[in-house]
Amino acid sequence: MGKNKSVEESGKSSRLERKKPGVGGWGGVKEQDKLSVGFVEALKVIVGSPHVSTAAAVREQHGHDESMHRCRPPDAVVWPQNVEQVSRLAALCYGQGVPIIPFGTGTGLEGGVCAVQGGVCINLTHMDRILELNPEDFSVVVEPGVTRKALNRHLRDSGLWFPVDPGADASLCGMAATGASGTNAVRYGTMRDNVLNLEVVLPDGRLLHTAGCGRHFRKSAAGYNLTGLFVGSEGTLGLITSATLRLHPAPEATVAATCAFPTIQAAVDSTVHILQAAVPVARIEFLDDVVMDACNRHSKMDCPVAPSLFLEFHGSAQALAEQLQRAEEIAQYHGASHFSWAKEAEERSRLWAARHNAWYAIMALRPGCKGYSTDVCVPISRLPEILVQTKEDLQASGLTGAILGHVGDGNFHCILLVDPEDAEEVGRLEAFAEQLGRRALALHGTCTGEHGIGLGKRQLLQEEVGAVAMEIMRQLKAGLDPRGLMNPGKVL
Ligand SMILES: Cc1cc2nc3c(=O)[nH]c(=O)nc-3n(C[C@H](O)[C@H](O)[C@H](O)COP(=O)(O)OP(=O)(O)OC[C@H]3O[C@@H](n4cnc5c(N)ncnc54)[C@H](O)[C@@H]3O)c2cc1C
Repeated sequence: MGKNKSVEESGKSSRLERKKPGVGGWGGVKEQDKLSVGFVEALKVIVGSPHVSTAAAVREQHGHDESMHRCRPPDAVVWPQNVEQVSRLAALCYGQGVPIIPFGTGTGLEGGVCAVQGGVCINLTHMDRILELNPEDFSVVVEPGVTRKALNRHLRDSGLWFPVDPGADASLCGMAATGASGTNAVRYGTMRDNVLNLEVVLPDGRLLHTAGCGRHFRKSAAGYNLTGLFVGSEGTLGLITSATLRLHPAPEATVAATCAFPTIQAAVDSTVHILQAAVPVARIEFLDDVVMDACNRHSKMDCPVAPSLFLEFHGSAQALAEQLQRAEEIAQYHGASHFSWAKEAEERSRLWAARHNAWYAIMALRPGCKGYSTDVCVPISRLPEILVQTKEDLQASGLTGAILGHVGDGNFHCILLVDPEDAEEVGRLEAFAEQLGRRALALHGTCTGEHGIGLGKRQLLQEEVGAVAMEIMRQLKAGLDPRGLMNPGKVL
C-alpha cells in the first residue's frame, strides 16, 4: 500500500497529518498524506462505522473512473445516507483542510474522481430515492444515487421518460455534474436543458437550492442562473444531493433506421442535410467502418462494414412515415445503401444496445489495452471537414481507433486503444488528441461536448475560453471554495 496507507492502518495517531497548502491552496499534484485516527473516527461518528472505509481495495476502486487516467486513491471513502450527513461531512473535511471528492457511479471519462491530492471520497450511491414525481408538471426530484436507467424503470407506466442517455448507466447527479448528454440530445437536449433545480452541499457544509427550495418551474428570469453554474461543474463547486429534472412525454410511436454510405463525407453530408431539412430526428448517430465491424462481432449483428448512420424518429404513426420517407430520400441522394427500418421494440433495443456497447466492442479489438475517448464538438456545418480529416489523421497516426458520435449535435468521439505501458504510443495518442482538440477550436468548436474537462483538458479549456473567462471561473471557484478543497486539480 506504500505511501497511501492510512493512519488507521499504519497505527499512527496524530490528529491530521496533512501538509499545509502552499501559495494558491492545494493547487498542485502532491504526494498523498494520511488521515489521522481521530479524523477517521469523526467520519464514523457522522455516517456510522460500516459506512467508512480506509481499506486499500476500496480506495483503489474509488481512485479511478473508466478513463485511462491513472488510479489516484482517496485516503478514505464514506457513504452518507442523507443530506444532513453530507453537510456534516463537508463541514468536517473543510474545517480540517481535507480535500473532498464526490463520487457518482465512476463511469466518467476524464479522471474526475481521481483523488490527486488524497482526501475523502464521498460516494453518494446509498442516497438512491426518487423523492417526488410531478407528472402534471413533467418533473421529478431524485437523490444522487439514482441512475438514468433506474429512473426510466420507475417511470415506465407513467407515460413519461427522461431522455438524456450517456452510454453508461450513470447517476443522474453525476450526469448533472459533468453536463452529460447522449444519443437523444439532438431532439431533447443535454443535462443543461433538462435540470430545473439542484440541491447542493457547498464545501463548507451550507445547503444551496440553486433555483429556490422546492421550485420546479419551466422558465424564470429571477437572478443569476446558479443551476447552470453547477451543471458541468464536475464536483469542483459542491456536492449535488438532489436534482429536479425535466421529464418528457414518452413518444407515441418510435422507429429506428440504419443506413450505410460509401464514404464518411457522404454520411456526414447526409446528416447535415437531414437537419437542414428540419426532419425532427430523435437520434442520429455516426459509426465508422471500424465501429461497425466491432459492433457486428461484439453484438452479433450483420450490418455492412461501412460508414453508417443509426437514426430514430419519434411521433405519431403518420408523422413517422413522413419523417422516414424524407430521411431515406436524403440518405439515398447522398449514395446510401441498405436503408433498413426497425419498428419492433425488441429490434430497436438490440440496435441501440449495440450502439451503447460500442465502447466495449471497440475495446475488444485490442484486449488488454486501455481506451481513450476524444470528445470534440463543432458547428454542424464544419462537421464533414473535421470528420474526414480526423479519419485521415487516425490512419496516418498508426494508432488503433474508431470514430463514432452524436453527429446531430456536431459532437463525435475518436476512441483510441493504447498500451499504457508503451510510453511512445501514449505520447502519440496524446499528440493526436491535442491536435484534434485544437482543430475543433480552430473551427469555432469546443474540446469537450459532453465528457467534461477533468484532469486532461485544462490547457485546452484555457485556449478555448481565453484569459478573461478563465479569470472569472477562478474567481467563482474561489468565492465558493476559497481553500481549493472541492475536487482539487480538476477543470481549472
Ligand atoms: C461506455 C461509456 C459510454 C459513455 N457515453 C457517454 C455519452 O454518450 N455521453 C456522456 O455525456 N458521457 C458518456 N460517458 C461518460 C459518463 O457516463 C458520464 O460522464 C456520466 O455523466 C458520469 O456520471 P457518474 O455518475 O458515473 O459520475 P462519476 O464518474 O462518478 O463522476 C464524474 C464527475 O462528476 C463528479 N460528481 C459525481 N457525482 C457528483 C455529485 N452528486 N455531486 C457533485 N459532483 C459529482 C465527480 O466528482 C467527477 O468529477 C460514457 C461512459 C462510458 C463508460
